[in-house]
Amino acid sequence: MDIIKKIKEAGLKGRGGGSFSTALKWELAKKAQGKEKYVICNAAEGEPNVFKDKYILDNYLEDVINGIKIAKNFISAKSAYIYLNKNYTISEDIGDIIIFKKDSGYIGGEETSICEAIEGKRVEPRRKPPFLTESGLFGCPTLLNNVETFYCVSKIAKGEYNHSRFFSINGDVLNQGVYELREDITIFQALKETKNYPEFDFFAQVGGGASGEIMLPQELNRPVFGAGSITIYNREKTDKYELMEKWAEFFHTGNCDKCVPCREGAFRIYEMIKERNIDYDKLDSIFFSLKKSSFCSLGKSIPLPFESLIKKIR
Ligand code: SF4
Repeated sequence: MDIIKKIKEAGLKGRGGGSFSTALKWELAKKAQGKEKYVICNAAEGEPNVFKDKYILDNYLEDVINGIKIAKNFISAKSAYIYLNKNYTISEDIGDIIIFKKDSGYIGGEETSICEAIEGKRVEPRRKPPFLTESGLFGCPTLLNNVETFYCVSKIAKGEYNHSRFFSINGDVLNQGVYELREDITIFQALKETKNYPEFDFFAQVGGGASGEIMLPQELNRPVFGAGSITIYNREKTDKYELMEKWAEFFHTGNCDKCVPCREGAFRIYEMIKERNIDYDKLDSIFFSLKKSSFCSLGKSIPLPFESLIKKIR
């Protein structure tokens, strides 16, 4: 059976957070017309408290490389790149795959920004469409997947795929780490099975250590989403302003400055929270403008952690 049929049968969806059908993306990249084609493995992993891709690279590099090579053959790509977080290292010789290391923070997770970076341009997103499968790196059809997706493709090719997924669990827990668990496991089950379910009053941040949604214990009966991270906070001991300030600083320093709603909005949020002088009406209107008029999905996602924390905890 050919690889695309196997990926379809496995029902694999991208593990970078977007959950787009892997088979569909691969077919689009294969069908696209282009003089040359490229494959990119996104190993940017720029968000705090998310470190599962690092774990996979450290422990299963061979499978990641195998997945990238399968993709390269499938779309007949000229070259393949790994877009690597600047703090990560890949020690082994990985042959014909080019490593591109860059400190691009939050914006590194945005796929068109990755193409700009590899092309040596300012790291900022492009307007979509066209999507990468049609016009990506150097204007050529490009297949970009996350580290874990390539790992899964390798497992599928070897007949070893068991519908598992990697989760980063951290914060106020006893057994912090990366765990390979069932892909449809609920947040509650993931905490229980890893002996990390707290005995104190807590809240969780799920899907990303800055952009993730704040969830209360009674909301955890749903699958883990986003980038697969769960961060636990002791409700009594956590300084909520300090926490919001950390997120705000990350968004303010990590956005690409391309558009006004995000550049100015992130700065205003940071300023208000840092000074502990929050005008909640003003904050609401900044959130509104971020959601409605940010150029890319990163700006649109900034309000979620603040809004969910303010609504549920404050
Ligand atoms: S929303 Fe605008 S400023 Fe923010 S990361 Fe996207 S393009 Fe850059």
